[in-house]
Formats: sequence, structure tokens, C-alpha cells
Amino acid sequence: TVPLGELFQRIETDFAPIAREKNLKFKVLPTSLYVRTDANLLRRLVQNLVSNAIKYTISGKVLVGARRRGKDVVIEVLDSGIGIPSSKFKSVFKEFTRLDEGARTAAGLGLGLSIVDRISRVLAHPVELTSTPGRGTIFRVRLPREKSAASPASQGGNSRANPQPLSGLRV
Ligand code: ATP
Ligand code: MG
Repeated sequence: TVPLGELFQRIETDFAPIAREKNLKFKVLPTSLYVRTDANLLRRLVQNLVSNAIKYTISGKVLVGARRRGKDVVIEVLDSGIGIPSSKFKSVFKEFTRLDEGARTAAGLGLGLSIVDRISRVLAHPVELTSTPGRGTIFRVRLPREKSAASPASQGGNSRANPQPLSGLRV
């Protein structure tokens, strides 16, 4: 079981300085949701999405949040960046694919989204992509929701039933 609030807090700490350097508004919304998944894989996935969101946004905002969708949780990474044309929605997930506009904007190898794609398929569902060139992009990752931190299935029972409240989160 992964407490999303803790994951988000770490994302905030890691990326806020980079976003600040670019004068972007960077918001990671606090959440008390839990998901049933692998913590390290999920962290890598979200890191790659947030890294892209900041890289391919020249001005405006990058937002990270989570909400319930039925029995699941959806993590959203939204940006007001250069966007991705719908004709490229498939190819951006392939290794070493870099779009002209993106390549002009920032350096990279074209590997981040291929890793995101593979991780999301291993964990649950393929990542969802919505984007409008010149306006922005949203990536959504859907994962099974866990009702609390206590999860007999994925933990040895030594986890705390009542994790720290997320009061330390800066918004
Ligand atoms: P790497 O992640 O290996 O450092 P990269 O960011 O170029 O390099 P991917 O993360 O796989 O590689 O992304 C592939 C391409 O998709 C990018 O080069 C860029 O053209 C486009 N892209 C990815 N995320 C976004 C985004 N949030 N907004 C606009 N374009 C994006
Ligand atoms: Mg990338």
C-alpha cells in the first residue's frame, strides 16, 4: 500500500526548486488516498511525468493531484505547456521518440514516457493522455484504491494503521 500523500510530498520537495527556477506555478495537492501498488515503480512513473510537465512548459503552471474514480484512484499530472498533437499520442510512448517542438524546448533522450508506459501497464492500466498543442497536457494514471494503510495483502503487518496526517504539506 502506498500513501499517496507521502509520495506527493516527496515529488514536491524534489521538483519545486526546478519549477521555481523556471518561474512556473507548481502545485502538488495534498491527498489522504492510498493505492495498492509498488511504491518505487509508482514514484518513478510520477517523477517522469512531472519532469516532462516542467520541461515542456515555458510559462504557467504544473499541477499534480489525485482523486477517486469508482473503486480506483486517478493521479493527474497537468501542465499548461507546449502540448502534444493527438497524432503523436501513440508514438510519444515509444523509446527515443522526441517531438520537434519538445526537442527545441529542452534536452532529453526520449526515454521517460516509454518507462511510464511500461510501468503503468505492469501496475494496472495504460496511462491516459489528453493534450492540446499550445495549451497544455494532462497525463492520468489509474490505480486500485486501498481503503487504509493497513493492507494484509501487500505488507507484513508492521505498517502503522494511522499514518501521520498530511498537515506538513505546503500547497
Ligand atoms: P527523457 O525523458 O529521456 O529525459 P524526453 O523528455 O524527451 O527525454 P519522454 O519523456 O519519453 O522523453 O518524452 C517524449 C517526448 O514527448 C518529449 O521529447 C516531448 O517531445 C514530448 N512530451 C513529453 N511530455 C510532454 C509534455 N508534458 N508536454 C509536451 N510534450 C511532451
Ligand atoms: Mg522525459
